[in-house]
Amino acid sequence: MKIAVIGSINMDMIFQVKRLPQKGETLLADHYRTVPGGKGANQAVAAARLGADVTMIGALGKDGFGDQLMEHLNIEKVNTEGVMRTETPSGNASITIDKEGHNTIMVYPGANYDVTEKWIDDKLYLVEDAEWVMFQLETPLLTVEYGIKRLKALGKRILLNPAPAQILPDSLYPLIDIITPNETELSLLSGVENTDMGVQALLKKGVNQVVVTLGEKGSIAVNEDKTTKGKPFAVHAIDTTAAGDTFNAALLIALMKEKSMTDALSFANAAGALATTKMGAQSSLPTDLEVQELIK
Ligand code: ATP
Repeated sequence: MKIAVIGSINMDMIFQVKRLPQKGETLLADHYRTVPGGKGANQAVAAARLGADVTMIGALGKDGFGDQLMEHLNIEKVNTEGVMRTETPSGNASITIDKEGHNTIMVYPGANYDVTEKWIDDKLYLVEDAEWVMFQLETPLLTVEYGIKRLKALGKRILLNPAPAQILPDSLYPLIDIITPNETELSLLSGVENTDMGVQALLKKGVNQVVVTLGEKGSIAVNEDKTTKGKPFAVHAIDTTAAGDTFNAALLIALMKEKSMTDALSFANAAGALATTKMGAQSSLPTDLEVQELIK
C-alpha cells in the first residue's frame, strides 16, 4: 500500500491554563508540551501506523523544531526524502487550553508555504509507485492545485481533505477521486447549509466520491450510484484534534485493501474515534491493531 502525502508539518505548542488570558494580560501556564502536528504530517503518520508505505512531500525550517519534526517522521517510518529544509521557520501552532477545554489557536504556516510547484516537480520521482496521493489545504492553494493536476495526469488517484476550508476553483473538482469535508467545510465549499444538498452540489461539480465526516455521528459516503452510512463508535472523547486526519488515512487504507465502502467507513470511524481518546495530534494516532480491537 503506497501512499504519498503532500502537505503541512507543524509543531504544536500546547499551553494548559486555568482560564484564557485577556487582552494585554500575562498568565502563567500550568503545563506546557510540544506535540508533532500539521494535517499533512498527521495523515502521513496515521497512514504509516496503520501499515502503509508513506512518502511525505513538504517543508521544514532549518531550526530546532524542524530537526525534531524530521526525526519524528523518520521514527514513524515515513519516507522524508521529499521534505526540504528552508530558511523560513518551521510551521507551528500555539494552542492555549483552559480547564473547561475551551481553546485559542494561532497557526504560523512558516516553511509549509515554501512548498512550491517546482518542489513537487523535483520530487515527482518519489511518488512514482504511489497509487494514491493525499492533499489538505495547509500548503499554498496554488501548489495544491498544481500538484493535483500534475499527479492526476500521471494516473494517480487523489484524495483531498479540504481543511482548513477555502473556496476551490471549479476546474479542480473533476480531478478529485475522494473529497472528505466535515459539515462546516462542506457548507463553505458548496455554498449551501444542508448536508445532502451540499454533497449533491460537489458531485455536480465533478467529484467522484464525497465523504462527509460527522464527528460523533460517524460519516457518510455518497457517489452518483449510492449513499453509504458509516456507523459511529461511542468512545470517551477527550480531544478531537487529528480525528479527521486519522479518519482520512484509515479510509484510504481500507479502500486500498479493497474493503467495501461500508467496511471502509467503519474502519475509518473506529480510527477517528480512537484518536479522540488521547490528547494531542500525532500522540493520539492509533495502530491497525487498536482499530481492529475496537471494531470487533
Ligand atoms: P478535526 O479537524 O478535529 O481533526 P474533523 O472536523 O475533520 O476533525 P470529525 O468529523 O470531527 O472531523 O471527526 C472525524 C471522524 O472521527 C468522524 O467521522 C468520526 O468517525 C470520528 N469522531 C470524531 N469525534 C468523535 C467522537 N466524539 N466520538 C466518536 N467518534 C468521533
